[in-house]
Amino acid sequence: MKIVMLGAPGAGKGTQAKMIAEKYGIPHVSTGDIFRANIKNGTDLGKEAKTYMDKGELVPDELTVRILLDRVAQEDCKNGYVLDGFPRTIPQAEVLDTELTKLGEKIDYAINVEVPDENIIKRMSGRRACLSCGATYHIEHVPPKKEGICDKCGSELVLRDDDKEETVKNRLNVYHQQTQPLIDFYNNKKVLKEVDGTVDMKDVFKAITDILG
Ligand code: ADP
Ligand code: AMP
Repeated sequence: MKIVMLGAPGAGKGTQAKMIAEKYGIPHVSTGDIFRANIKNGTDLGKEAKTYMDKGELVPDELTVRILLDRVAQEDCKNGYVLDGFPRTIPQAEVLDTELTKLGEKIDYAINVEVPDENIIKRMSGRRACLSCGATYHIEHVPPKKEGICDKCGSELVLRDDDKEETVKNRLNVYHQQTQPLIDFYNNKKVLKEVDGTVDMKDVFKAITDILG
């Protein structure tokens, strides 16, 4: 099963993608997590990606597509995957589609997690991320057991550099201009499913599992 998560930054794509990955036994592939791991490790890729990410802009398609295609070519992706944060532009979606078609494969579901812009800024300012294992928390909705510490790996939790309010506003603009058109792209391919992302995360997940079966 190959799934694409769509939705604004902060809509809950990562939260739901992790739950889907666990329930269906497929890898959660997040281009944002891959970039953040590279930034943490000080790689050249990380240095380049950071210049865009800190401004709330998209990393160029060519670089992002290369990273993603390398990742999904790995052995653990052979039975499917859930993509979170990719594709984010029409050209990215087209390359993915072309590469899958060559393999006789396709995206089975594109799940759009709908959350209005008004809710997003509040969510992002409360998000805390573990840069070691990729776990995500929210200071009100999903607090860690011990403040500032990851439940899963014990590392320190941080407010992501790109979750500051000004950057979030820019990310929302970028989302509306470059990523929202993917809703039509996947609707035309008859794989689009929409879920209300404003309800409790367990209820969002229930709506998703009702779709996926
Ligand atoms: P995305 O991957 O789409 O950027 P996240 O999954 O990281 O978004 O979620 C953004 C923030 O909102 C996180 O702090 C997360 O814990 C919180 N969150 C996710 N889903 C919900 C929900 N249904 N209700 C309230 N808060 C949520
Ligand atoms: P995310 O963790 O999905 O919120 O992504 C964080 C940031 O990483 C984005 O704001 C972009 O700068 C960059 N990024 C992640 N995925 C992509 C992508 N598919 N295309 C371009 N940039 C991306």
